Amino acid sequence: MLPVKQRFNLPDGIIYLDGNSLGPVPVGTSERVSRVVNDQWGPNLIRSWNIDGWMAQPVDVASRVGRLIGAPAGTCVLGDTLSIKVHQALSAALQMRRQRRLVLSDSGNFPSDLYMAQGLIDQLDQGYELQVVEPEEIENAINDKVAAVMLTHVDYRTGRMHDMNAITRKAHESGAVMILDLAHSAGAVEVDVTQDQCDFAIGCTYKYLNAGPGAPAFIYVRPDLTETIDPALSGWLGHAAPFEFEPGYRPAASIERFRVGTPAVLQVAALDAAMDAWEGIDMPEVRAASIELSELFIEEIQARVPQLELASPRDASLRGSQVSFHFSEGYAAMQAIIARGVIGDFRAPDIMRFGLTPLFIDKDDIRAAIDIIEEVMRDKLWDKPEYKTKSKVT
Ligand SMILES: *Cc1c(COP(=O)(O)O)cnc(C)c1O
Repeated sequence: MLPVKQRFNLPDGIIYLDGNSLGPVPVGTSERVSRVVNDQWGPNLIRSWNIDGWMAQPVDVASRVGRLIGAPAGTCVLGDTLSIKVHQALSAALQMRRQRRLVLSDSGNFPSDLYMAQGLIDQLDQGYELQVVEPEEIENAINDKVAAVMLTHVDYRTGRMHDMNAITRKAHESGAVMILDLAHSAGAVEVDVTQDQCDFAIGCTYKYLNAGPGAPAFIYVRPDLTETIDPALSGWLGHAAPFEFEPGYRPAASIERFRVGTPAVLQVAALDAAMDAWEGIDMPEVRAASIELSELFIEEIQARVPQLELASPRDASLRGSQVSFHFSEGYAAMQAIIARGVIGDFRAPDIMRFGLTPLFIDKDDIRAAIDIIEEVMRDKLWDKPEYKTKSKVT
């Protein structure tokens, strides 16, 4: 069935290998958002919260995301951004293990996750410590002092993928809480939070899920834990009865206790429209297509572009849905490639990153992209001042 390019509005003349960072616009997004503005918000005004179901959508639409990560309906909720969800999950995990003081993560984690963890630890001022080890060292570093193991499943730079099942089992054997960041996994690789018995899973919806810039994050909480947690971000919409306006906080008796404030209704509508693009598509099919694309990509680059050194694992089972390469002038090289219609991105210090998104990328796209990459690298077309000035977003 894949690809389903007709489900996306892709600009002509562009091969988009950055859907891992900001997905393209799904067909129907513009109409869906317009409908909310013109047919709901416009005529119904504040009545839309009830008439148009706006208040229920953070749970309803989250269930559509849940299907892709093995989360049953009612175990995920949307809201805020992923950095905020890191804070929520980690503060809950620390409350669950009050006798322990270590938060364990790895150097492949996304900086914001580590910043948020350190910020929470500093604010609590209770002797917590963030221990950051090499990705390969995680399993060995888990012991009975660790309160929470907090990892990003797929490394944003290299695409290296953790064996979450094994790590979660080890964490649980040592009595630690497992927090899994699925930013580069949801819609990219097969994940089953239920089977893996993950305690918390968090992720964003603007990468492989295509819900647009600033779209809400999601949080999954293991259903048997939900009601034992006192949310640290105790906003009114996580209250059991927000419209009773009680003086004290009482958390809702469901995943809704992980809501904070008013949902971003227009972005939730965009996510709902984006999830239509996933109808009839299962993750095993996506994963199989992704591996085919990445194998082709790596084989062709290794055969034709010796300047690029593979930064991703060569073994597909250890790799997410992206392929990355080291190149000392990677920023300039990527700008030159983008100028010729192949969009990837650059991650400091020297990583050229290409996202593989089988919903709208096929083997012909990969072959055409390689032709351009080969030409840019062989003829040093990147060696121009205009490609070397860094923009704010790389
Ligand atoms: C993209 C990404 C983020 C971004 O967080 P926001 O708060 O949504 O900006 C955080 N963590 C990881 C692992 C990411 O890949």
